[in-house]
Amino acid sequence: MEKSYDALIVGAGPVGCVVAEQLAKKKGWSCLIIDKRDHIAGNCYDRYHESGVLIHQYGPHYFRSNKKELIDYLSQFTDWIPGNYEVKSSTRGELFPFPINLLTLGQFFGRTFTAEEAQEHLDNIRIPNDDPQNSEEFVLSRVGKELYEAFYLGYTLKQWEMHPRDLNKSVCGRIPIRFNEDIRYVDHEYQLTPKEGFTEMFGKMIDHELIDVQLNTSFEEVRDKIKPNAATLYTGPIDAYFGFQYGKLPWRSLDITFTEFKEAYKQPCVQINYPNDHAYTRSVEIKHVTGQQSDNTVISYEVPTWDGDPYYPVPADDNAALFKKYWKLADEENKANKVYFSGRLARYTYINTDEAIEMALETAQQMMNDAE
Ligand SMILES: Cc1cc2nc3c(=O)[nH]c(=O)nc-3n(C[C@H](O)[C@H](O)[C@H](O)COP(=O)(O)OP(=O)(O)OC[C@H]3O[C@@H](n4cnc5c(N)ncnc54)[C@H](O)[C@@H]3O)c2cc1C
Repeated sequence: MEKSYDALIVGAGPVGCVVAEQLAKKKGWSCLIIDKRDHIAGNCYDRYHESGVLIHQYGPHYFRSNKKELIDYLSQFTDWIPGNYEVKSSTRGELFPFPINLLTLGQFFGRTFTAEEAQEHLDNIRIPNDDPQNSEEFVLSRVGKELYEAFYLGYTLKQWEMHPRDLNKSVCGRIPIRFNEDIRYVDHEYQLTPKEGFTEMFGKMIDHELIDVQLNTSFEEVRDKIKPNAATLYTGPIDAYFGFQYGKLPWRSLDITFTEFKEAYKQPCVQINYPNDHAYTRSVEIKHVTGQQSDNTVISYEVPTWDGDPYYPVPADDNAALFKKYWKLADEENKANKVYFSGRLARYTYINTDEAIEMALETAQQMMNDAE
């Protein structure tokens, strides 16, 4: 007879792993995690390339958070090394610090700037707009045409195959402009990388006698066979769960190729953006982050595409409306069959790993409360 489980967890990504860990430890539930891929850790999966270099298979993951509780929680499963997240943008034949800061402005305009001078300079070149409606208007209203065309326009066109004027202002609005010389990619208080990698960290998290993992298994194969005693967590795409009955939610994907070089380091920092040259948007040398010592290195090149794994939900109003229709079905399914929809694919949202883990902790709590 097949073993029965209290919870079926669909997806061994960060959300599936955290929820399983919480349900097993706090509630004593037996959990079966399934994933259609041949590994755990979802898009955070890292592995050793043939050259021996640790790589991030699904694009670089720069872990960061502002919450000490979250770091404390994850520290049960990993030690950390500092996150060395530095990005440069290649434009006009030079490499500039990115996001734009005082050093970028100095290099770009060939003079030095204090914070006040930079503010004044941008005030003179920006195109005032109190209520920008899209990414183009937003960036123009902050930095003006020349910087917009050098750093943002080409990158956005490649990344989305859409013009910034057709994209929600949040797409480019996420990127800060700094009036200091902080060259770090992000502003978060904690910028850390799991010392032995993400896959190790999530592996330790689900290393529990009440948790079983079955890889190479899709939900579609088992949905009529495995009936958990208490609840199901579904972290796959929401439209797939409901048979795409209202149509497909679009996702942007990446075609990532890894190239080995016989030298310790190939580029000066982990990421170089190419807004205006090449088909790829960025080159990434993750060794700058993992801190691995090795005589050779691996660079990944990312070419955006509409085919392939779902990576980025497309931020447009009609997609948000379509998601809402599916979310209504998810709500009904939750009430009728105790299925919980969580994570980036089920919520059709771009979230970083820290946010995914916070969402998972909330979902686990909800599942436990509902079972009281
Ligand atoms: C290119 C890229 C770069 C990123 N960079 C960063 C970064 O720098 N910093 C950061 O903090 N975060 C980053 N993220 C975000 C991070 O990957 C996510 O926040 C996190 O992986 C979300 O966890 P999840 O469990 O919701 O989803 P996922 O990690 O996607 O895991 C979902 C799992 O469910 C499985 N699955 C789906 N459907 C089914 C099914 N039908 N049956 C069985 N299994 C199924 C999938 O195979 C997958 O393993 C990045 C994401 C991408 C795509």
